[in-house]
Amino acid sequence: MKQRFEPAIAPPAESGEPAYWFAFHKAELLVADAADMPALPHCRDLGELGLNSVRRIYLGTYGGRPCYVSELAHAETLPAGHALQGLRAVLGGPDPALGTLAGRAFQIMEWDRNHQFCSRCGTPTAVRRDERARVCPACRYTTYPPVSPAIMILIVRGREILLARKKEWLQGRFSALAGFVEPGEELEDTVRRETREEVGLEITNLRYFGSQPWPCPPQLMLAFTADYASGEVTPDGIEIAEAAFFDCEKLPDLPGGISISRRMIDSVTAKLARGAKP
Ligand SMILES: [Zn+2]
Repeated sequence: MKQRFEPAIAPPAESGEPAYWFAFHKAELLVADAADMPALPHCRDLGELGLNSVRRIYLGTYGGRPCYVSELAHAETLPAGHALQGLRAVLGGPDPALGTLAGRAFQIMEWDRNHQFCSRCGTPTAVRRDERARVCPACRYTTYPPVSPAIMILIVRGREILLARKKEWLQGRFSALAGFVEPGEELEDTVRRETREEVGLEITNLRYFGSQPWPCPPQLMLAFTADYASGEVTPDGIEIAEAAFFDCEKLPDLPGGISISRRMIDSVTAKLARGAKP
C-alpha cells in the first residue's frame, strides 16, 4: 500500500464500486492470499464472499477507493484464498501502511462495539454523521474513539543508555522506561514521574523523539530521550525487576523492530557509537 489514505465519516452514495474491507474476527484480520498488495478483500459487499458481518463502518478512501471496517459474525467458513491473520502479525508485516490502517480500523470497530449504549443513562446510542462519534438521543452524551497517551523515555549518560526489564518479561530482555499519562499531567510531568517511580533517577534536557499509535489497547506512545541528572538506579521492584546503564555497543536483548522503543534505542546508540550527541 503506497497510496494515500483520506479519513472520512460519511460513506459515499451507492456507486456500486468495490471497496477495501478490513474484516475482523476478534483481533484477527481477513487477508486475501493475493499477489497484488494490499492483500485485503476488494468487493462491493462481504456478502459476495459468503460472509456475514455484524457491523459496517466507513473509514474513508485509500487511493480514491472506499474502505470499510466490519466485524465478522463467525469464522467457521472463510472464502477460498483467504485467511485470518493476527493483528500483531499485520502490524509487523511487510506492508507498514496496511498495518497502520488495520490498527486504525480495529480501534474504530472496537470503539463502536463497546459504545452501543450510553454509559451515562443506558439508552442505545446513534452514529453521528458529522464526526467520528456516537451520541445518546436521550441525554446527548457523546463518545469518541478513545486514545490513551503513554510516554517512553530513554535516558542517556555519557556513552550509556538506561534500559529496564519489566517483571513479566523474559530474563535478559530490556527496553526503555514507559508509562501512561495520568489526568492533569503535562507530558514532561509524566516522564519525570515515571523515571522517579520506576528507577529513582532525575533527568534533564528532555527531547521529543517520535510517536507510535498502537491499537490494542488503544494508545499513543510518545517517545522522548533525556540526559541523566542525578540519583542511583533503583528499580521499583513492582513494575521493574531490573534496570541498568548499558554501553551503547554492549546491549542486552531488545524489543522487536516494529516498536518505537527499538527505533529509538537503535537511533540513539548509533549516534553515541560514532561520538555524536543523540
Ligand atoms: Zn444517555
